[in-house]
Amino acid sequence: MSSFSDEAFSLEFFPPRDQVSRERLVGTAKQLLAMHPRYVSVTFGAGGSTRDGTAETVSMFSQLGCEAAPHLSCIGASRESLVQLLDQYKARGIRRIVALRGDLPSGMGNNDSDYRYASDLVRLIREHAGDWFHIEVGAYPEMHPQADSPEQDLDHFVTKVSAGANSAITQYFFNADAYFDFVDRAVQRGVTIPIVPGIMPITNSTQLLRFSQMCGAEVPRWIRLRLAQFGDDKASIRAFGAEVVTQLCQKLIDGGVPGIHFYTLNNAEATLSVWKNLRY
Ligand code: FAD
Repeated sequence: MSSFSDEAFSLEFFPPRDQVSRERLVGTAKQLLAMHPRYVSVTFGAGGSTRDGTAETVSMFSQLGCEAAPHLSCIGASRESLVQLLDQYKARGIRRIVALRGDLPSGMGNNDSDYRYASDLVRLIREHAGDWFHIEVGAYPEMHPQADSPEQDLDHFVTKVSAGANSAITQYFFNADAYFDFVDRAVQRGVTIPIVPGIMPITNSTQLLRFSQMCGAEVPRWIRLRLAQFGDDKASIRAFGAEVVTQLCQKLIDGGVPGIHFYTLNNAEATLSVWKNLRY
């Protein structure tokens, strides 16, 4: 029997865009908090587009009694704006931050700020706030799409960890071997922090293929073929998705992962069905 437990889960949400989505998110959150996740995290749009939305959504989760961690991205941001946000989060008692580089929205040109990489942000957080925050960073078992090689990407990951990250969450993947290989290589480089797999439930083929194209996650051919076969049959896609993602999570748990981070996409059903299927 593994030592995995409900507290090893974390859940990711994005800030709702309007009042209707906000009300819907409260309902979704209440359903998902039945999982007793260790914490939830709330994404942040690069370029500051959802800066207030992130903070408001974090407050909403705190009011529901759950630890909530804002994502913070540094690309295109000034030191002043980053420090201001860190101070606000500290004043509100937030103890965990997901520190990212972020991606500039297309058309925003090159980034010439001092904060070009997530490691720069991790350094700033440590300089400014000491050990107040538990810092999560991103990791890419299938390589970040802009990296020159897996080896260089790993070098950059190690730099980010050395700058003061406490744990990492991976980009999603469907091939457990890619994750275990990445962790093995990181451990060989002296990394000791937990590397938690990020898991994307499958509910919508078009959306999944579009996201995966953008973030460099490989959707295996057999999964693409099966999804294509289902066409618009949403119920079959959801049932197949739950089966595939449950098997992936079970394999990861059996292999000793330190946790599982679900990209919920603000949807309760898909994550809950995987969680209910799991045996640990
Ligand atoms: P970095 O670690 O800075 O790496 C980015 C690229 O730069 C990599 O190719 C790396 O190899 C390279 N690199 C790093 N350091 C150096 C260096 N010194 N010299 C040369 N190259 C270097 N995006 C958002 O906008 N908002 C979010 O809320 C958000 N949440 C996310 C949550 C998770 C768990 C993950 C995994 C990603 C998330 N993203 C989010 C996406 C993320 O911002 C993008 O993947 C982005 O392109 C990289 O961010 P990073 O923090 O991993 O960057």
